[in-house]
Amino acid sequence: MTDLKSLTFTQLAELVKSIGWESYRSQQIYTWIWQKGINDIDLMTNLAKSKREQLACDCFISSLHLIDTKQAKDRARKFLFRLHDQHKIETVFIPETDRKTVCVSTQVGCALGCKICHTAQIGFIRNLKFHEIADQILQVQLLTGERISNVVFMGMGEPFLNYAECLKAIENLNSDFGLNIGARRITVSTSGIVERIYDFADFPLQAKLAISLNAATDQLRNELMPINKKYPLSEIIKAVRYYIEKKKKRVTFEYVLIKGINDRAQDVRALTKLLYGIACKINLIPFNPCPHTKYQSPTLPEMEAFAEKLYPQLPAVTIRKSRGQEILAACGQLAAQ
Ligand code: SAH
Ligand code: SF4
Repeated sequence: MTDLKSLTFTQLAELVKSIGWESYRSQQIYTWIWQKGINDIDLMTNLAKSKREQLACDCFISSLHLIDTKQAKDRARKFLFRLHDQHKIETVFIPETDRKTVCVSTQVGCALGCKICHTAQIGFIRNLKFHEIADQILQVQLLTGERISNVVFMGMGEPFLNYAECLKAIENLNSDFGLNIGARRITVSTSGIVERIYDFADFPLQAKLAISLNAATDQLRNELMPINKKYPLSEIIKAVRYYIEKKKKRVTFEYVLIKGINDRAQDVRALTKLLYGIACKINLIPFNPCPHTKYQSPTLPEMEAFAEKLYPQLPAVTIRKSRGQEILAACGQLAAQ
């Protein structure tokens, strides 16, 4: 049996051709799956009954299965989904007045062991297929009744260690027959897998890049994010410069502020030195305490003081209000316990 949802548009077009149907049928089927969100081939009413029966003999449509949902006071909502093999992933919906954002998971767990991150504590289980990534947005759209405008690849997992499926997911999200989300409204966040930053710069769609920096010296970053030993800051910055040059786009650096660890005067100096002259934005995010970590969050005035010290040299600094903190729905808080 073929899962129609697991086919890219090109693959679906090939299937439709192989059974001798007109090519526009692939657009109809893709629209039923990715815009109307149906799971039953019999509901494809613009296909003749005989065609639906023929298709249903060899094909079905999978779906993520909702197990639980929690809503925070700020209306951020976390969804727990079960995959076909019983593994679980989390997805977050972040409604704002001008945009409705979904934060998607790209892997079950993560292998990279960042010290601040909740997902790291479950280790790596498996990569998600592209349709399992895209289905998170489709299901959230159906469950909330809101048209999703923006997508961030900032949930569980390292997108650049599941690169091919993430790119296919972006192409699917971007498709006119699919969820039709502009590539400029899709951001992929990476801990800094250098080869893939170069590849992403060469990827034709204009999706955005964010780098989880979290420390501005190799010494501290090695400690917080062990992947830095393989891909040190100098290599990441070189790759980021290539991306900016190639895409003519700014890159966002995410910097999770941890009280007393990376918010000292020397960190301000190191960050300024590292990023000075690079076309970038810096997003300061308060560390969200999660189980089994020893770190503490800074207060808002402490975050503002840190930002103030960066402003003269690095003006594009914003403080990101963490959403859904009390339901562990903030970035790096997803662990599908
Ligand atoms: N693996 C990718 C994307 C998922 S992590 C990456 O690392 O970029 C998404 C973001 O959550 C990262 O910027 C990470 O630094 C941040 N994060 C991890 N743990 C956090 C915590 N406890 N509080 C706040 N942000 C956290
Ligand atoms: Fe993985 Fe990102 Fe968490 Fe690091 S911060 S463990 S790369 S999900």
